[in-house]
Amino acid sequence: MEQPKPLLRSLVPVAFADPELLAGEPAYRGDQLRDWVHAKGALAWERMSNLPAAWRQRLAAAWDLTALASVARQVSTDGTRKFLFRLRDGDTVESVIIPMENHATFCLSTQVGCAMACRFCATARGGLVRNLEAGEIIEQVHRLAADLAADPLPEQGGRAFNVVFMGMGEPLDNWDAVAASVEIMTHPLGLAMSRRRVQISTSGPREGLEKLIAAAPGVGLTLSLGAADDAARRRLMPVPGRTTVAEAVALAERYARDTGRRATVAWVLIAGSTDDTEQARRLASQLAGRPFKVNLIPLNELRDDGLAPPAEARILAFQKVLTDAGIDAFIRLSGGRDIDAACGQLRRRRADG
Ligand code: SAH
Repeated sequence: MEQPKPLLRSLVPVAFADPELLAGEPAYRGDQLRDWVHAKGALAWERMSNLPAAWRQRLAAAWDLTALASVARQVSTDGTRKFLFRLRDGDTVESVIIPMENHATFCLSTQVGCAMACRFCATARGGLVRNLEAGEIIEQVHRLAADLAADPLPEQGGRAFNVVFMGMGEPLDNWDAVAASVEIMTHPLGLAMSRRRVQISTSGPREGLEKLIAAAPGVGLTLSLGAADDAARRRLMPVPGRTTVAEAVALAERYARDTGRRATVAWVLIAGSTDDTEQARRLASQLAGRPFKVNLIPLNELRDDGLAPPAEARILAFQKVLTDAGIDAFIRLSGGRDIDAACGQLRRRRADG
């Protein structure tokens, strides 16, 4: 296949001052271009009305402005909107808009597929295809923001959104692109988002957590644990399980302390597997006195693997063990159950035909 052109949206804000990009145009033209691409999220060259037409044409000959085409948009009865985007090489990724009380949360993909092989996750089924580049991650934000602007959530005047790297893929296995996209989101000349509005969710591979600590991007961290002892975690999450629970928790704690912001432990609740109160006690003893809260996520059923979410009483009993130990624990019902909103489900269904 023909190599695609480089993607303009992958450039971090400072790169728009590059003389090669400017090709003889004055520096303020670079500022204007950066505003269109990042601050305004332009998805068509024609919108860049204040740029000289000749330069626009030369740019368009050398760069791609967009890398995503919308293939599907589904809206759940609870307001969750799920998008399937086709990439330039034909593969697809998902993004989700989740309505919250006073803002929207954008759930972004960082890879096509995933190499972590978690037993309960639809994305894991096809393995890893490739990393997304920064511009492909940022374009998800721009397309979701455009959707939200065109069709605002009911009862919400504002267009404020948070971003979670919680869609397809393991963000810390694609650190360079994720770091560049965080830079673009939080740079005052990029999307100018507060770091508090950005959250990275990871299955916690050691090298990835070490890179995160070294880079100190100041965004929130969620560690997907799912088991409190190493053997059980290796069965459930084979690749992340190569890092011990103790080590993953210690690295996440270090990041939380560096950032001055509590980290979250995400725990998927699966009937007969991750829902017994003995596991809850082990988790509580791992987390007691440390800067964590816990999100309990009842399994979003994939219906082909025999795994199911626990009954409500089991969920509440699990939560009670944690709260009795002084740990904040919240039950997070996943939105969009009627539209295959669990990570990777929509893409999987399309691939199945
Ligand atoms: N790889 C990263 C981000 C993608 S997964 C991570 O592991 O955090 C995002 C979250 O979705 C994880 O907490 C994961 O445990 C959860 N998840 C995946 N499949 C799920 C399912 N079928 N039901 C409920 N939660 C699921």
